[in-house]
Amino acid sequence: MAKGNIGVTSDNIFPIIKKFLYSDHEIFLRELVSNAVDATQKLKTLASVGDFKGETGDLTVRVSVDKDAKTITVSDRGLGMTAEEIDKYINQIAFSGAEEFVKKYKDNAQAIIGHFGLGFYSAFMVSRQVEIFTRSYRDDAPAMHWTCDGSPEYTLEETTKADRGTDIVLHIDDDNTEFLEHARIQALLTKYCKFLPIPIAFGKKTEWKDGKEVETTEDNVVNDVNPLWTRKPADLKDDDYKAFYRELYPMGDDPLFWIHLNVDYPFHLTGVLYFPRIRTNLDLQRNKIQLYCNQVFVTDSVEGIVPDYLTLLHGVIDSPDIPLNVSRSYLQSDGNVKKISGYITKKVAERLGDIFKKDRAQFEGKWDDLKLFIQYGVLSDEKFYERAEGFILLKDVDGKYFTLEEYKKLIEPNQTDKDGNLIYLYATNRDEQYSYIQAAKDKGYDVLLMDSPLDAHAISQQEQKHEKTRYVRVDSDTLDKLIAKADQAQVTLTDAQREALKDIFDTQLPALDKTEFMVTFEQLAATDSPLYITRNEFMRRMKEMSAVQGGMMNFYGEMPDSYNVVVNTAHPLVERLLTDEEAATGEQIAPLAAELATVEARRHELQEAHKGKKQEEIPTAEKDELDSLRKRADELKAAKRDVYKAYAAGNKQVGQLIDLALLANNMLKGEALAKFVKRSVELL
Ligand code: ADP
Ligand code: MG
Repeated sequence: MAKGNIGVTSDNIFPIIKKFLYSDHEIFLRELVSNAVDATQKLKTLASVGDFKGETGDLTVRVSVDKDAKTITVSDRGLGMTAEEIDKYINQIAFSGAEEFVKKYKDNAQAIIGHFGLGFYSAFMVSRQVEIFTRSYRDDAPAMHWTCDGSPEYTLEETTKADRGTDIVLHIDDDNTEFLEHARIQALLTKYCKFLPIPIAFGKKTEWKDGKEVETTEDNVVNDVNPLWTRKPADLKDDDYKAFYRELYPMGDDPLFWIHLNVDYPFHLTGVLYFPRIRTNLDLQRNKIQLYCNQVFVTDSVEGIVPDYLTLLHGVIDSPDIPLNVSRSYLQSDGNVKKISGYITKKVAERLGDIFKKDRAQFEGKWDDLKLFIQYGVLSDEKFYERAEGFILLKDVDGKYFTLEEYKKLIEPNQTDKDGNLIYLYATNRDEQYSYIQAAKDKGYDVLLMDSPLDAHAISQQEQKHEKTRYVRVDSDTLDKLIAKADQAQVTLTDAQREALKDIFDTQLPALDKTEFMVTFEQLAATDSPLYITRNEFMRRMKEMSAVQGGMMNFYGEMPDSYNVVVNTAHPLVERLLTDEEAATGEQIAPLAAELATVEARRHELQEAHKGKKQEEIPTAEKDELDSLRKRADELKAAKRDVYKAYAAGNKQVGQLIDLALLANNMLKGEALAKFVKRSVELL
C-alpha cells in the first residue's frame, strides 16, 4: 500500500473547502456525476476510434444512497483510472496561492471550483472520507483503491474490482446527513443532471402493489439523454417544442414561439429560447432561462450572460464556451460572452422579423403578448431597436395594427399642426377616455391605444428619435389645442366675468384626495362641450414613469394629480350662465366690487409711491395702511367668493356641468354619482 501527501502547497485545502464553500454544498453531486459521464463518454470515443476493442456494455451511471452505512456511491462504467492516472489527476492538484484566491472568491464557490479543477474535491464538502474504486479499460492495469479522510494524506493500493469503471464512495459527515435522504438526492439529480447525455439511474422505479410501494426491476433513470436542443430542427415538430416547454415549466402557458439556436463558430452554443406571454409583471418572468454546459445544469440566473431584456425569454442555453465557473463581473467582460449576447440578440430579432414578414396576421395576433418584451428590448438596447424598428407595431383603439412607417403615413395629412408637428393621439383606456376618443374621431383623427406599463417610456423614445413628433393623450387638452390648426380664437370675457366664472366653478368642484383642479377658459366651437376636464400630459407621464421606475422619479409620484377645468366660453350654456349670474348676484356684488376697486386703487397708489424707496424711508403710518388695505382686499374677495358660491350652489346647471365633465373622465364616483343621478332626474 502506498501512502502520500496530496500535492497542495497550502497546508491543508480541506478546511478551506469546507469553510468557504458552505452555501453551495449540493453541487458535489453534479461534479461527481458529470465526472462519471465524462469518463463514460471518453470510453465511447475510444471505442469509436478503435482504441478500445472490448464490449462497452451497459454504460448507465448509477447513484445510490445507503442510509445505514451513511454513504453515497456514484458508479460508472467509463474508462476508469490506472494508478498513474490517479496520481496525476487526483493527487497532484497543483495550485499555488490557494488561500489567497479562496479568500478573494469566498462568496463564489463556483469560481474556486473552476479555478482549481476542484470538481472531484468538492466531495469533501460533505464527506469525512472519500474512496475511489477504479479499474482502467486497459487490460494490463490492476484495479486501484484510493482513500482520503480529508487530511492531505491519502492511501492508494491495489484491489479487485469485477467491472471496468469507477465507484466513488462518499462517507457523509454528520453535518450533511440531509444528503442521505432519498428525496433530496432525487431532487438534486433532477436539478443538475436532467439532461445529461448518459443515462443516470437512481435506484429502481417503484410501483404500488397491494397498497404498498414496491421496487420494480426497472432502473429509475432521472435524465433525458437526448434533450430537444441537441436534436436537429428539421426532425422536430411544433408539438415537440411545446412538450419540451412543458417539461421545463410545467406550470406555464404555452409559449408564443421559439428559436432553436445552433452555432459552431466563433463559439459553440446550442439551445432553444421561447417567447412567453408577458402581459404585466416583468419580474415574475425572469430567471427562467437555464444555462447548461455540455448538458450539465449550471444556473438559471443568466444576468450578465444575456442582455437584461432577454432574461424575459425562457428556455435553455448550452455552451461549453461560457466560462461558467467564474464570477459575474468577469463574465460581463468576457469576449465570448459578449459575442454570445450579440448573437442571441441578432437571432431573436431575426426570428421576430421573419414571422412578421411571412405571416403578419400571426404576428399581429401575438403582438399584445409580445409587446412588452419588444418594448423592453428596444428601450434598453439600441442594436435591438435598429433590428426591430421595422416590426414595432402601433395598435389603435379600433384594434388595427400599423408599423411606425404606416402609421406616420396614415396621420400625416390630418394630424400635423400649424407648426409642422406630427401629433400622435393616444388613449390609455378605451372606456374611461371614451368621450375624448369619440371627439377625436369625429374630427377624423386616429387614436392609438397605449395601455402597457412601458408605453410612457416607448413614447419618449419615439419623440426623441423623431423630430417634430409629439404624443399626446386625448384627454390632456382640448382637441383644438392638441392639434392646433390655426391660431385660437380669443376669449372675450371681461375681468369681472372671468373672476365670477372662476369662483362659480371653483367653489363647486369636488375635493378629491391628491387631486388639484385649475379653472381655465377657452373660446372653442359652440358645438364643443361646455366644460372639459383635461390632464396635463407632461405631469401625467412623469407620474406614470415614476410608478414603473421609482427612485429619483418618486418626486413626481408624490405630487397631486393636476387637472384643468376648461370652460368653453363660446358655448350657449356658458353664455347663458353669465347673464343669469349677473342678474342674480349683481346687487350683492356691486358694492363689494366698488369697494374692492377703491381699495385696490389706493394700494396701487401707495405701492407706486414706495417704488425705489428703502423700507426705513417709508413712514410707519403708510406701512400700516398698506397692511390693512391688503387685509380688506382679502376680505372683500372672500365675500365676493361667498356670494358666487351661494349662487353656484343654488344653480343646478353649474353642478350638472361639472358632474358631466367629471363623468366623461370617469371621475364621478360613489355619493357624488348618486347625487348627480338625483339632480338629473330633478332637472328632467
Ligand atoms: P475536471 O472534471 O474538471 O477535470 P475533476 O476534479 O472533476 O476535474 O476531476 C479531475 C480528474 O480526475 C478528471 O479530469 C479525470 O481525469 C479524473 N476523474 C475524476 N472522476 C473520474 C471518473 N469517474 N472516472 C475516470 N476519471 C475520473
Ligand atoms: Mg469534473
